[in-house]
Amino acid sequence: MKSVFVYCEVENKEVAEISQELLSAGKRLAQKLGCQLDAMLFGKDLDGIENQISPYGVDKLFISDDSRLEPYRTLPHAALAHKVLKEQDPQIVLFGATSVGRDLAPRLASKLNCGLTADTTILDIGDHFVKKEKKEYTDLLYAIRPAFGGSIMANIINWDMHPQMATVREGVMKKEIFDANYKSEIIKLNATEVLNDEDFVVEVIERHIEESSVNLKDAPIIVAGGYGVGSKENFDLLRNLANILGGEVGGSRAAVDAGFIDHNRQIGQTGTTVRPKLYIAAGISGAIQHTAGMQDASMIISINNDPDAPINAIADYVITGDLGVVLPKMIKFYKEN
Ligand code: FAD
Repeated sequence: MKSVFVYCEVENKEVAEISQELLSAGKRLAQKLGCQLDAMLFGKDLDGIENQISPYGVDKLFISDDSRLEPYRTLPHAALAHKVLKEQDPQIVLFGATSVGRDLAPRLASKLNCGLTADTTILDIGDHFVKKEKKEYTDLLYAIRPAFGGSIMANIINWDMHPQMATVREGVMKKEIFDANYKSEIIKLNATEVLNDEDFVVEVIERHIEESSVNLKDAPIIVAGGYGVGSKENFDLLRNLANILGGEVGGSRAAVDAGFIDHNRQIGQTGTTVRPKLYIAAGISGAIQHTAGMQDASMIISINNDPDAPINAIADYVITGDLGVVLPKMIKFYKEN
């Protein structure tokens, strides 16, 4: 039966944010195709985990709960996922473009002899691309991803491949609960029956998780600075404003490359994708590689001394002027009000 399938990542009993985004996107695709949404999830101590997944409108949920399945290791996860996909034969399979998804998806695509579109930012069902081929495809997945350093957006479709597989970048798909009371059919997989000793030849001895207090993805307000900020010290103005507004500070790649701000605060195609309520862009020109990561903000304010800066075209409000003058005025205003 035709279905859309999502590989979910889980750690410490929490379904990853990216998996929730994929389930939401997967449900939208399944509704367009008029088919079901299914998911798989492998980890340990997963009692009740379905409560985090079913609300996204998942019909069948394949779970393997075994202490050896966490932390993630390639071979056991690939063997379990391969078994599920072989038996279920879905039309579309989605993975996060995370270190796990980037490891697992190509291996499965190779095992299933199908294509894989990596790092996609837009997914849809339709025929606008295949019309060029003069073929009547109306229900295939097409994926859009930045290519050639972000200078073009490539539409990619695998029309002779089955299933159609894609990895999806974190933060680009809108998270959307389908029905809080939705009930999934739970199918339990016994890992011991599927896996053998060879699947466990790799042993995880130690893990180092980078501590990061930066959470740009969930910040409701971001004050971002570009090369136009001019120096590391000048970023204090942005930090001040962000503190007053209860937001985070971000930056363009040019600001990161110039050493004005840390790399973990970079926004854009090769940084974090954000969707805050308010995005203040100070001294940022609006290159496509930057806007790809922030254009879905609910409100964008651009502060730039160039009235023709490209970012102004996507901004809701434009303040034309020197940020060294504008930012202190904003700080003063918000402090007093
Ligand atoms: P600039 O383009 O130099 O713009 C500076 C702006 O500041 C100008 O508009 C100027 O008018 C304004 N300005 C100057 N002085 C002032 C002042 N005193 N007051 C007010 N305004 C002032 N970029 C990203 O941001 N994120 C990415 O993830 C990313 N990934 C990339 C990936 C690839 C493969 C490539 C090739 C590029 C990538 N880039 C990325 C780089 C991108 O192409 C741009 O070079 C970069 O975004 C430009 O940063 P900027 O707007 O800060 O600098």
